[in-house]
Amino acid sequence: MFPFEIYSPVDTLEMPIFRQKRLRVHMKRDDMIHPFISGNKWRKLKYILQSAHDQGKTHLVTFGGAWSNHLLATACAAARFGFSSTAFVRGEAVSNANLSLCQLFGMELRFVDRTAYRDKATLFAHHFGESPTSYFVDEGGYSAEGARGCGELLDELPEQYDHIFCACGTGTTLAGLYRRKTEMRLRTRLHGVPVLKGGTFIQEAVHRLVPDLGTADITLHTDYHFGGYAKTKAPLLAYVSGFCRQTGILIEPVYTGKLCYAVADLAARDYFKAGDRILLIHTGGLMGILGTQ
Ligand SMILES: *Cc1c(COP(=O)(O)O)cnc(C)c1O
Repeated sequence: MFPFEIYSPVDTLEMPIFRQKRLRVHMKRDDMIHPFISGNKWRKLKYILQSAHDQGKTHLVTFGGAWSNHLLATACAAARFGFSSTAFVRGEAVSNANLSLCQLFGMELRFVDRTAYRDKATLFAHHFGESPTSYFVDEGGYSAEGARGCGELLDELPEQYDHIFCACGTGTTLAGLYRRKTEMRLRTRLHGVPVLKGGTFIQEAVHRLVPDLGTADITLHTDYHFGGYAKTKAPLLAYVSGFCRQTGILIEPVYTGKLCYAVADLAARDYFKAGDRILLIHTGGLMGILGTQ
């Protein structure tokens, strides 16, 4: 429906801790999919756009913080595939590089205070309830359609892995991987690294997207949030810059930095068996670097 070629190779991560523990660690480079519709964001939008199109909708309405990768991806994808777009942005009016790019792609921004922001369905109903062409896209692309697109990543893998890890914001990516893994009957163990504090909510968030599956097969590592969403601490920042310097692969501290830190820390604690094959998903989002410097 919406032609979009995915380029996302699998790279090998050569790092001393992995060599020392005799782990084979790889990274799925979803960050290379697109500079703005990056990482898991095209995967999530694919069936969301399709569903909007099938219902005759031409205007995407979505939600996010001022540094949201989802807003930028939605703005760019909307422009590319002939939709208009509006975003409700959490908090007081600000300007930054991310929002400027959203506007360049034609997205209309409406800032709303944190209290009003909480009730997204009401915001949508109040502003666009009468508009027959407007389509509600939840924050972060959280939806069964989004999950379905994310699951397709597994069909691109060149080999099987003992463990697959992703960072979690809304849990959509993890839910999609879980659904597809179950359909494909893979023995791979799935792991999520929540980037928000109190990450056990991801269990419930995943469950709501794949209610038929249960979540016993998913492992969440909830101690790598470093204080909460977009919060950082010196060891995380040091790890991120060391990683970039050693691999030539950019990661950022909001999502993929916490993911990579978690896997390295688990390796150091002998969480894995020698010989294990591990895949980390680079979910992109490199604009986040600008927001955390
Ligand atoms: C949006 C985003 C995520 C969060 O994915 P969920 O499917 O919401 O859990 C992870 N990593 C990056 C880089 C993102 O931009």
